[in-house]
Amino acid sequence: MPKTFFIDTSRCTACRGCQIACKEWHELPANKTTQFGWGSHQNPQDLNPNNYKLVRFSEHLDGDVIRWNFFPDQCRHCVSPPCKQVGDMTHENAIVQDKATGAVLFTEATRKFSELDFEDIRDACPYNIPRRDPETGQLSKCTMCIDRVRSGMLPACVKACPTGTMNFGEREEMLKLAAQRLERVRKTFPEAMLADPDDVNVIYLLTDAPENYHDYAVASLVPVRPMDRKSFLAVLGRPLR
Ligand code: SF4
Ligand code: SF4
Ligand code: SF4
Repeated sequence: MPKTFFIDTSRCTACRGCQIACKEWHELPANKTTQFGWGSHQNPQDLNPNNYKLVRFSEHLDGDVIRWNFFPDQCRHCVSPPCKQVGDMTHENAIVQDKATGAVLFTEATRKFSELDFEDIRDACPYNIPRRDPETGQLSKCTMCIDRVRSGMLPACVKACPTGTMNFGEREEMLKLAAQRLERVRKTFPEAMLADPDDVNVIYLLTDAPENYHDYAVASLVPVRPMDRKSFLAVLGRPLR
């Protein structure tokens, strides 16, 4: 049975404890950052090889009310991961899916991917997650803290979250919790929704329209791109020659 995160954004205060905990556990170096927008504390500006987790800030006017939305972004550990389907066409099993947990993992063999291969893999991801270290070529993203999970511990970001936003456990248990929270949150936010719950193992509860969080909050927001050759063949299930 796969493991699943339930991320209840209605409870997120944007303290960024999860983002820092992720960096600390994985011993990821600091990035040079700059303030990039009036009123936004999002930092760094985007996911990168040293940030597997990023709390995104988004502000908009809803009638007379200013809505400030927080979105702790990370890999969704897709049930059928498109990144793996495309990656397997060039280097089989450089991207693996752990049977016990459902975690999608970028192994060291991802260094064999060319820059073009990487672009195909990133384009295949509906959530714009994969990043590449420009020096080593290693592809990077959230690992589900597989070392901690295999030892019976919670992922670092879940352990660090003080508000109950980050939850982790068996998929059935998380789906039940998500349904309960959705019912409750809808009393205040009638448009509240779960983001792509059937397709991913990182399920977000949103209180606002997905486009008011992030361009890639749900798969359906991804602009329709002309399909590259590898993605096309992956869809057809045919080998790349
Ligand atoms: Fe939000 Fe929890 Fe992360 Fe703080 S630690 S930013 S409350 S998800
Ligand atoms: Fe792969 Fe993207 Fe899905 Fe993560 S979110 S498993 S990187 S396709
Ligand atoms: Fe980072 Fe681990 Fe949380 Fe993934 S599960 S975002 S690797 S702390």
